[in-house]
Amino acid sequence: MRTQKGIDDSRKAIELKLRGMTYAEIGQQLGVTRQRAQQLTKPPKRVYEMVRQRAGGACELCGFELQSGHVHHKGGSFENYNDPDNLQYLCLSCHVKQHESKLPGEYDWKRSLKMRTTKAARYGHKL
Ligand SMILES: [Zn+2]
Ligand SMILES: [Zn+2]
Repeated sequence: MRTQKGIDDSRKAIELKLRGMTYAEIGQQLGVTRQRAQQLTKPPKRVYEMVRQRAGGACELCGFELQSGHVHHKGGSFENYNDPDNLQYLCLSCHVKQHESKLPGEYDWKRSLKMRTTKAARYGHKL
């Protein structure tokens, strides 16, 4: 649900994320949970769908077919953060590689990825 307050929080969360804050820190700033902070920086569903369709439902780097891929932010500025041009549809494995070198808010991100990895492993998606 995107209320006006939700949109304002999103903008704030993205701004803080771009400054290199972790989701936990962003959550503290905005008075929300870490999960909520993470949610706030995500692209809206229609953008996610756009990126997924552009990729033909497969990882844009290795071509692995995905039920629900990760949307990776290539970088970007505040203006284009959730712009399809700044987004890549990726499998877990390629997403990890994209983050190995450059990563603001590293600890937080790796933690959430680890949880997802465990889940993916259960479904037999090999890393
Ligand atoms: Zn891939
Ligand atoms: Zn990413």
